[in-house]
Amino acid sequence: MQQFDFDLFVIGAGSGGARAARVAAKHGARVGIAEGANFGGTCVNRGCVPKKLMVYASRFPDAFKAGKAFGWHAPEASFDWHALMDHKDTEINRLENVYERNLHGVGVQTFSEHATLLDAHSVRLRTSGKVVTAERILIATGAAPDRPRFPGVDLAITSDELFHLNKQPRRLLIVGGGYIAVEFAGVFAGLGSQVTQLVRGPALLRGFDDEIAGTLREHLSLRGVDLVFDDRIERVRREGAALQVETTGGRSFEVDTVLLSTGRRPNIEGLGLETAGVEVNDKGAIVVGPGGRTSVASIFAIGDVTDRLNLTPVAIREGQAFSDRHYGGIESPEIDYALVPTAVFTTPEIGVVGLTEAQARERHPQLRVLKTRFRSMAQAFAGSQDQVFFKVLVDDATDRVVGVHLLGEGVAEMIQFIAVALKANATWLDFRSTVALHPTIAEELVTLK
Ligand code: NDP
Repeated sequence: MQQFDFDLFVIGAGSGGARAARVAAKHGARVGIAEGANFGGTCVNRGCVPKKLMVYASRFPDAFKAGKAFGWHAPEASFDWHALMDHKDTEINRLENVYERNLHGVGVQTFSEHATLLDAHSVRLRTSGKVVTAERILIATGAAPDRPRFPGVDLAITSDELFHLNKQPRRLLIVGGGYIAVEFAGVFAGLGSQVTQLVRGPALLRGFDDEIAGTLREHLSLRGVDLVFDDRIERVRREGAALQVETTGGRSFEVDTVLLSTGRRPNIEGLGLETAGVEVNDKGAIVVGPGGRTSVASIFAIGDVTDRLNLTPVAIREGQAFSDRHYGGIESPEIDYALVPTAVFTTPEIGVVGLTEAQARERHPQLRVLKTRFRSMAQAFAGSQDQVFFKVLVDDATDRVVGVHLLGEGVAEMIQFIAVALKANATWLDFRSTVALHPTIAEELVTLK
């Protein structure tokens, strides 16, 4: 039998790869992992974590304003971009070290360099040139920002660079209408920048429930985001310290920074997929079957590089299930991709699980749509213009709840547990026969008419 250096070699130490490596090693496997950038990957270093810290920072002006209604008098608040960035960097460095330490703690051998596949069982580490062999190889390299093509595109930044700007943009143009675009529109509007958001289609958040996307649109506008639809960038040029942006629709903007948030593409560059015979689809995503198996029997892939449901917790679950299966003899329940809860961290935030109303109408001809829009007790008291919007979709034939769409304060925390109810096949009777918890925003969900 062939002797391998490792039982498992993982390429990419992001959320999914690091989890798979750690779990396999805990089960007793000999594991190596290569990471060419930062341990912890996109989520920890250039995604969810620093983004959420910035979301928290952007919400303080609301709290200061509301404080007055609650009897607090404080001197005029001011915001220090460098203080936030420095503190954020310290925290991200701490987390990155925790990731690497945790891998070492269970005996995973780490390589801080990129890796390229040579064949079904071997990998070359690109900086040192070292070749290692493994019985199985797991690709977990994630995705990277995609850039549209237009003259001057290099003057624009993506979310990767946004977290390292040495100055807060006073005027920011955000391109795109997806998760990243709306989240940063909310963050920078909250931090006091003048934000314009340029969306190529007629609406925000394609794929989300239309009413949720529409309600978010109203709230972003209320918060001062200048939303421009059905238009796209034609060119960008530098003029002194400013950027001049022209659009195909004939608009022009003068801004300090242009942020491109126009989707992400699988990170496969330099991976040697062709040499090893690993099949990719026309979007460059690795094609996988059950359990993440690629077209090569000993090579597997998980997370965003497979472009299925590109969310951190999905990659983590895939990594855990992979290593439990191969090294622990544990079969995890299949991931139910239809009931993955998701949140958009705007202000107010969005939490959704299950079908949108349009999808539900196609699948369930007898659909009951229950919804409410109201101001919470705190919002009314503080004189905030924000509202809460809840929509619950019920299949009349079975009384099953097939979709829940929430917008409001704290709904990301709520949707996690609503997803548990939907996973357990909850009916509307289960919801409405649960006694409400008063006074909360969440109680409105079980008293909907
Ligand atoms: P999304 O796919 O969510 O949105 C991309 C946006 O860019 C869409 O509005 C799209 O328009 C638009 N677009 C695409 N190409 C162009 C172009 N050439 N010119 C102008 N506009 C264009 O991608 P994001 O970059 O926002 O986020 C990437 C991924 O990161 C998401 O899929 C999500 O999985 C993940 N993420 C998750 C978060 C969370 O869970 N809270 C937060 C942030 C990111 P159209 O709709 O017309 O295609």
